[in-house]
Amino acid sequence: MSDEGFISYFKPLIGDDEERDVLACLRSGWLTTGKYAKEFESDFAEFAGFEHTVAVNSCTAALHLALEALGVSRGDIVIVPTFTFTATAEVVRYFDAVPVMVDSNEDDFCMDMDALRSTLESIDSGDSVPGLPGGGGAGKVKVVIPVHYAGAIVDIDALDALKSEYGFKVVEDCAHALPAWRTLSDGRRIMAGTTADIACFSFYANKTITTGEGGMFATDNSEWAERARVMSLHGISKDAWKRYAKSGSWRYEVVAPGYKYNMPDLAAAVGVNQLKRARAFRDARTAVAAEYAERLAGVPGLRLPETSEGVESSWHIYAVRLDAEVCGVHRDEFIERMRDEGVGTSVHFIPLHTQPYYRDAFGYREGDFPVAEKVFDEIVSLPISPALSKSDLERIEKAVKRVIPSAR
Ligand SMILES: *Cc1c(COP(=O)(O)O)cnc(C)c1O
Repeated sequence: MSDEGFISYFKPLIGDDEERDVLACLRSGWLTTGKYAKEFESDFAEFAGFEHTVAVNSCTAALHLALEALGVSRGDIVIVPTFTFTATAEVVRYFDAVPVMVDSNEDDFCMDMDALRSTLESIDSGDSVPGLPGGGGAGKVKVVIPVHYAGAIVDIDALDALKSEYGFKVVEDCAHALPAWRTLSDGRRIMAGTTADIACFSFYANKTITTGEGGMFATDNSEWAERARVMSLHGISKDAWKRYAKSGSWRYEVVAPGYKYNMPDLAAAVGVNQLKRARAFRDARTAVAAEYAERLAGVPGLRLPETSEGVESSWHIYAVRLDAEVCGVHRDEFIERMRDEGVGTSVHFIPLHTQPYYRDAFGYREGDFPVAEKVFDEIVSLPISPALSKSDLERIEKAVKRVIPSAR
C-alpha cells in the first residue's frame, strides 16, 4: 500500500513557532551555537529543575560527556540495564571501561534494583557476574546508568540506598523521560533526572520533544558542567561562539583534546519552541495511553503497560506484550500483519547482552537475563504521539483486534 493513510510509529509535531525561529536563525547569519542554544539551555534548566545545562548534539554525546566529567577510565565498571538502546552502553566503551549489565523488572521494564544489589554484592566480593567472568576484583563500580524506560522512572528510593552504600555516581539516561515525575517514599515529588549526579536527555527525531538531533547534559554540579562545556567544544576554554561576536576575543586556549558536540542554533531554534509545548505533548500522550488502556482491555494474552504507584510517566513508549500461545500470534508476525493493516510499530529493545558485539566482547550468554529475554520475545511498541487522532486510535484498535486471533 502507499504511505498515504499509513499510521507511522511516531510523528513529531512541528508548529509555526518552530518554523518562524528557524527562519529567523537562517536569516540572522548565525547558524551554529549562539543565542538560541543559550536560550534553550536556560529555559531547559528552569523547566526541568537543574542548576546547569549544556546543550549538545545528541543524548549519546551527553552520556559520553557525563562519564568523562566523572573521570571514568580504563577498566572501571559502569553498570547499565541490558534492556536499553545501545547508546547507554557504547559510551562506556569509549573509555575502555566495562559495561556490566543487569536485568529489568517484569512490570515496568526498568532496571531491577534487587538485581542491581546482587550484582554490586558479587562484584564487591570478587565473584563473577555475567559480562565479568573473572569477577570484579580490582575493578570498581564507578557509575550506574539507569534508564527510565518509556518514561516510567526507576525506583529512586532503592537506587539512592544502594548509592549511599556503595558510593557510585548516578548518570540517568533520561532519553525517554521529559517530562516525568515520581513521588518518593519521603513524599517528595521529583522530576526525572533531578536526583541524579548528571542527567542526559535526548531530542532525537522520535523523542518526546525534538530538535532533529540533540541532547542536554544537566546537573547541579558546576565543576562537571564546566568540564562538559569545555569538552563539548574541542576542549577550548572559552565559548568559541563568543570569539566571533563583538565582545569576543580571537585568543583561545586548548586545555584538553575535546569533542565536537555543541548544539547548533538551527536545532536550538526548534528546541526552545518544542520545550514550551513539552507539558501539553505529555498530556496528549497520557491521553493516548489512557485511551489504549480502555480500547485494548480484556484481549486475552495481551498485556498492557502498567506504571508503578507514584509514577507519572512521560509515555514516550506504549509497549504491550503478546503471549503468543494465548494470543494465537507471535510478536514477529504481529508486526508484519500490523504493517499490512497500515500501522507502524517498533520494538524497544533488543537486550544488549544478546547483541553480537556485547555478547562476543564480554561473554554474555542466553539465559543471563531471563526477564529481559522473555519480555523481548513478547514486546511491541504501538504508535504513540501527540499527533494521533481519535480516528487513528480507532483504526489501530481495529487492526490489533483483527490481527490477534484471541481478540475475536
Ligand atoms: C534515543 C536513546 C538514546 C540516544 O539518544 P540520541 O539523542 O539519539 O543520542 C539513549 N538512550 C536511550 C534509552 C534512548 O532511547
